[in-house]
Amino acid sequence: ADDLPHVSEADPTAKALGYVEDATKTTDAKHKPGDNCVNCQFYSGAATGYGPCQLFPGKAVSAKGWCISHTAKQA
Ligand code: SF4
Repeated sequence: ADDLPHVSEADPTAKALGYVEDATKTTDAKHKPGDNCVNCQFYSGAATGYGPCQLFPGKAVSAKGWCISHTAKQA
């Protein structure tokens, strides 16, 4: 999964979703501290590096990234 092409912040879908490679860098008011791709239910990668996200088929997002579709993983 880590070898999938990484989603670029400049990608139109990424822009539409406010995706950032580093969740701590977002200025989006919807971001809650601590939320990132690792604790999002759409992410299926490792805790570090990059991994698949259901919203970006065929690409990998940053584990420490974030976007407005973040949905907390079910416990
Ligand atoms: Fe990250 Fe979740 Fe957004 Fe995918 S949907 S980019 S895993 S925050």
